[in-house]
Amino acid sequence: MRETLLVLVTDRVSTEGLAPLHDDDRFEVVTIDDSSSEEFSSTLKHASGLIVRSATTVGESMIDGAPDLKVIGRAGVGIDNIDVAAATERGIAVVNAPGGNTTAATELTMALLLTLARRVSRADLSVREGRWDRAAFRGVELKGRILGLVGAGRIGAEVAVRCLAFGMDVLVYDPYLPEERARSLGLRLVSLDEVIEQADVISLHVPLNDETRGIISDGAFRKMKKRAFVINASRGGVVDEDALVRALEAGEIAGAALDVYETEPLPPDSPLRAAPNLVLTPHLGASTEEAQIGVATEVANAMLAALIDGDLSAAVNLPSGPSYK
Ligand code: NAD
Repeated sequence: MRETLLVLVTDRVSTEGLAPLHDDDRFEVVTIDDSSSEEFSSTLKHASGLIVRSATTVGESMIDGAPDLKVIGRAGVGIDNIDVAAATERGIAVVNAPGGNTTAATELTMALLLTLARRVSRADLSVREGRWDRAAFRGVELKGRILGLVGAGRIGAEVAVRCLAFGMDVLVYDPYLPEERARSLGLRLVSLDEVIEQADVISLHVPLNDETRGIISDGAFRKMKKRAFVINASRGGVVDEDALVRALEAGEIAGAALDVYETEPLPPDSPLRAAPNLVLTPHLGASTEEAQIGVATEVANAMLAALIDGDLSAAVNLPSGPSYK
């Protein structure tokens, strides 16, 4: 019988952020960044906890190779790389860190918005190419324009706060946001069509599911203002990529920015790479020093609570089976 609980960590999760586990002598934390190694599989056999980011796929066979596993932690929000159904069946809790990267994703959204409004990335490129073309890069101001949010949870609400500070008006489509919460944030709840038709900037902050997949597609682009910008830093697939390319090429909207894609990494021959007035970043939403520490601390605390106290309040599944104490 082990005296300490073994927690195996992979995918370069921030060591600093894992302090709640490192500093607690009830745990032994082992970091093995190569999850395909023999050392990883042999350590996993004795692990009570496993912490990953997005690079490691925690599938059924990995779960089968971990007879003592009680909790899988995802240092981040998306759990697409974890077979949650298989974990649930084995009575393993899956915990994530939904709040640790809210500020990072919010600030990237603001960066994309300002880049679109002032054409920063194109202007930078032109100067590097030896030009000094001021007339070609006249931008627009955000003050007085309308932001239309699709989804105003953690990130959408923070984007709203910043856009209100820029003097924008904010409309929100979010069928699950209580009226009370919208009012306290100073936001106007409207229909999806109203957001699409009235907003100068449409920014999406929703999960990807059957309801939201392709929520912005050909029909929506046709109804948008010609001067509208569309920003997606939520999940690929929420904005239909083929429809976006068509809308940009036809001049149905003024520009767009994407941080997330239907297929990641973005295929080299994706038509998005050649589309006009489009700003592309390689899924950088959570890529700040602070967010990497933040998600690691959040998942470490969730792991500690689950393994020591049997507290599963951070679990995204409700595993049946043995107790976690
Ligand atoms: P959240 O759960 O706090 O908020 C999501 C909001 O979407 C909720 O208010 C919910 O009511 C609303 N919603 C759900 N279905 C909807 C629908 N059909 N129409 C309109 N609104 C709907 O999530 P969050 O932390 O704000 O994250 C938002 C998105 O950003 C998620 O998809 C998350 O994975 C993504 N994200 C991306 C990055 C990145 O690196 N680019 C980083 C962090 C989060």
